[in-house]
Parts: sequence; C-alpha cells; structure tokens
Amino acid sequence: MDKEKIAIERLKTAAEMSESCYNKPLMLTYSGGKDSEVMTELALRSGINFELSHHHTTVDAPQTVYHIRKVFKELEAKGIKCTIDYPEKTMWELIVHKCIPPTRKIRWCCAALKESKGNHRMVATGVRWDESVKRKKTRGIYEDMHSNKEKKIVLMNDNDDRRKLFERCQIQAKTIVNPLIDFTNDEIWDFYNNECKYRNPLYDMGFKRVGCIGCPMASKTRLMEFELFPQYKEMYIRAFDRMLEHRKEKGLETRLEWKTGQDVFDWWVNG
Ligand code: SF4
Repeated sequence: MDKEKIAIERLKTAAEMSESCYNKPLMLTYSGGKDSEVMTELALRSGINFELSHHHTTVDAPQTVYHIRKVFKELEAKGIKCTIDYPEKTMWELIVHKCIPPTRKIRWCCAALKESKGNHRMVATGVRWDESVKRKKTRGIYEDMHSNKEKKIVLMNDNDDRRKLFERCQIQAKTIVNPLIDFTNDEIWDFYNNECKYRNPLYDMGFKRVGCIGCPMASKTRLMEFELFPQYKEMYIRAFDRMLEHRKEKGLETRLEWKTGQDVFDWWVNG
C-alpha cells in the first residue's frame, strides 16, 4: 500500500476512535503550512467527519493569517467546522511576563501559544519523523498524552498490539494520531506541489517552513524573515525593552551586555 493510502487508513481509524471514545469528530491541527495542508487534503479524500483547529500565535506572517482565513472560509462553506483560537497573552506580552526571550533551550512559547487545546479529544497532527532526529525517537503513529511521561504510550507501527488499548477507549485525556509520520520531506513536497488545492504564499517567497516569525528553531532563516518583516523585528525589540524594565522591577540579575532591547535582539538572533 502506498503512503497516501496508509495515511488515509490511519485517518479513518482515528476518526472512528474519536467518535467512539470521545463522541466527537477527529480534530485536525492546521498551521497553514505544507504538512497540515497535505493532512487536510487526505482527510477530505478519506470521507471522514473532521474539524480543523488553528492556533493563532500572534507572530504568524500576515500571508499565513490571510491564507488560513481564506481556506477556512471555503471549507466552512463545505460544512467543515473550522476554529481559530487566540492565546490569552500575545508573544510580546509573554516575553515581558516570562522575563526571557524564547530560545532553542528555553522554548516556553509552543506550550503557551500552540498547545493549549485538544484535551479530551483525538487530535491529528502533521508531525513527521523526517523533521528531526528527536521526533524519529519520540513520536509515533498513535500517542496518548499521559501526564506521567513514563506511562505515555507511543505506537511506532500500525500493527502494534497495544493499538487495542486505544480502540477500547482505555486511553482517556488527549490522544494523538500522526498520519503522515513516515512521509519524507520529498514526498510531502511532491504531494503538496501536485495534489493540494491551497498554497501558502510564503513558500513562493522562499520560505521552506511556515511558523512564527523569528522562531528560535528556524535559526538559518531568521535573518531573512526579519528582512522581509521589519515590523516584527521592531515589535521584538520593543518587547525586549519592556522585558528589561520588568526584570529590573523584579530585581533579577541581567546579562551585562543586555542594556537595551536592541542588545537583547542582537544576542537572540546571533547567539
Ligand atoms: S513555532 Fe517557534 S516561535 Fe512559534 S511557538 Fe513554536 S517554538 Fe515558539
């Protein structure tokens, strides 16, 4: 069976589990990037009942924001429920509140801006093993999000006997399915370029991934992002200025080279 068919089978299985365990349709996360687009196209082809959910991060590129609104409007006209969630605090407020910029090592932003929804639901994501070595080791086709990491169940293949646990609804809280987990980067691009109806304009501007502008995980492309979106650079610098004031009010020790928001920004993008 080819990978598209396998992914469709996983979506069908997950949609059945979602209805029987949670009594709700499968929830697909939608970022506006290629992976979530491919997953949405496959869900449409599978004929399952599903919803789409997008987390607005407050640092998405305007092109992504408009793209998502357009896609959601069209899909809602087809009867698919699409939801955009807004965080309690913006990235700029969170930087001040946390007293530190988000970094590769201290990545508080995903939990605050992207991962707050989906409790007591079955959620499909576009996570793939080809994205990183860590994902290859820790992510699976089906995952239950147990609060105790030791007890978390991750199924790495479709025939794992423990799948029965998921099907019998013995897993509660939040359950994840990653239908595209074994797609390579080339396979995803091939499907996205040739089969998907919707296309985020950022890809035609040279972007290889769609995420928050200035994301610390996108080290190689951050400078290009700030050149294309200088207003975001200014907003980060202003947030870092306010963060320094807040650190002073709280009596926190601050790195000697952090005198202004611009200093923090330079450290943040170069360090
Ligand atoms: S995509 Fe990057 S910047 Fe955005 S929330 Fe996740 S780690 Fe933070």
